[in-house]
Amino acid sequence: MTSKSKMPKIAYFCMEYGLDDKLKTYAGGLGILAGDYMKGAKDHDFPIVGLGIKWKQGYGDQHIDKDGMPFDCYKNQNYDFLEDTGVEVTVKIRQRDVKIKVWKCDNFGNAPLYLLDTDVPGNEDGWITGQLYGWFGEERIAQEMVLGVGGVRALRALGIDVDLYHFNEGHALFAGFELIREKRDEGDSYQEAFVKSREEIVFTTHTPVIQGNESHPIDRLMYMGANMGMTVEQLVAMGGAPFNMTVGALRLSKKANAVAQLHGETANEMWDYVEGRAEIVPITNAIHRPTWVDKAMTDAAEKGADLWVPHMKNKRDLIAFVKERTGAELKEDVLTLGFSRRAVPYKRANLLFRDPEVIDPLLRDGKLQIVYSGKAHPLDDMGKQLIFEIVGFSKKYPNAVVYIPNYDMATGAALTRGSDVWLNNPRRPKEASGTSGMKAAINGVLNFSTLDGWWPEACDHGENGWQFGDGFIGKTEAEHDKHDGDALYKVLLEEVMPTYYDNHKKWVAMMQQSIMDCKDEFAVLRMLEEYYEKLYI
Ligand SMILES: *Cc1c(COP(=O)(O)O)cnc(C)c1O
Repeated sequence: MTSKSKMPKIAYFCMEYGLDDKLKTYAGGLGILAGDYMKGAKDHDFPIVGLGIKWKQGYGDQHIDKDGMPFDCYKNQNYDFLEDTGVEVTVKIRQRDVKIKVWKCDNFGNAPLYLLDTDVPGNEDGWITGQLYGWFGEERIAQEMVLGVGGVRALRALGIDVDLYHFNEGHALFAGFELIREKRDEGDSYQEAFVKSREEIVFTTHTPVIQGNESHPIDRLMYMGANMGMTVEQLVAMGGAPFNMTVGALRLSKKANAVAQLHGETANEMWDYVEGRAEIVPITNAIHRPTWVDKAMTDAAEKGADLWVPHMKNKRDLIAFVKERTGAELKEDVLTLGFSRRAVPYKRANLLFRDPEVIDPLLRDGKLQIVYSGKAHPLDDMGKQLIFEIVGFSKKYPNAVVYIPNYDMATGAALTRGSDVWLNNPRRPKEASGTSGMKAAINGVLNFSTLDGWWPEACDHGENGWQFGDGFIGKTEAEHDKHDGDALYKVLLEEVMPTYYDNHKKWVAMMQQSIMDCKDEFAVLRMLEEYYEKLYI
């Protein structure tokens, strides 16, 4: 790579950052990726700063009531470790001036992250930065105006020099509107300003689930003042009507990326109809190893030393963690599956339970135990129903099925270190990447997964983990689930369980290969270098 001082300076915009459980500014995979990216930027000295929001109540905590239903709690967080930059900027939202205070966070081994906060005295609209992904359309637009427009103004006020603006997801698109407005104020025509701004913007798209791509009615954008001087016609030409934030970002960026090879194909097909959009190149996600991986495992793998001893320590730590959080008592010598994800239907948390005749005896006879975690979006009743179902299984099979409420980074780390097997069964091709499987793989926890997201790139079946379903895509969900459910049981019963119980040597050799195959390929340095080579330069 060229010398770091000559590299383009990047301002990275994201709604959420998962840096540490002390900073509740994340909801899920998008935030974890952003947090790992910022830590990688610091470790490897890349000229990157981040812009985000200081969410007063974060994403909220989620607990389970006595009937087994999730419910949400919000409390005000106290982040007294953040540094007050003394900088304040103003953005007009809904015809009102909203003051935004800028905090700096560099507490978690991360490159400088500036967090925007409307909770300042005298602000009528202090609640805009109250809850991450809370509330509905208008509030979301207001939040995105704080991130995008406020973010660019904060950079100017802080005197930070930027070559490229990287929008991690479409939430940050209004930053592009602000870049256009700045140039028009200096005398450029709309067209000139649009073209110049596009040269400064790159974009990462994350979700192949169409509903996951936010859109807003044009009149609402106008009413909120999010258009930043653009006309209805200019808005429609950029993002359609209703205005789709992903489509807008694809038109207002010089280059875009998808987050895995397979997702690259899916995204290019999905957005094929968008004329004048940026090219979408695949750059597979990665993880920050010091955050997620037990160094004892990678050290042992590199030396070819015994992996079982450090793995069993991690497994005992997980068992203790489960006991502390739920009271359940797992057994050390039983094959332990881990599964933790946002609770959304396409991830099929319940696929393992499809056929009670197969699964019931395994759980009752102490052949298998499984630890679940995951949160549903506070407004997602279908997701909550899924958790209710898993909680039901944990009641039916106490000490064999466990559900850990309030999925957070500590839970993610405990599960991806201490499980024996990492179960992942999204309906292909709906999982853009998935990073929990990378954490598992590099901890020597063997992936057992459909061929979706990152896994087709890493899977060497029977050598470093297993796939099931052979990449099948069903014509209907019912057909898809039957196919994958049958395949799951077949590989579990014929390969995973016999290897675990009858061929210990092979199992440990697979752990070794899992770590060696994935430890550099899915570490954040590889991802950052690819961003520079394929997206930034
Ligand atoms: C790793 C992690 C994620 C992302 O994992 P996926 O495989 O993308 O679901 C989400 N939340 C937490 C807390 C994590 O640790």
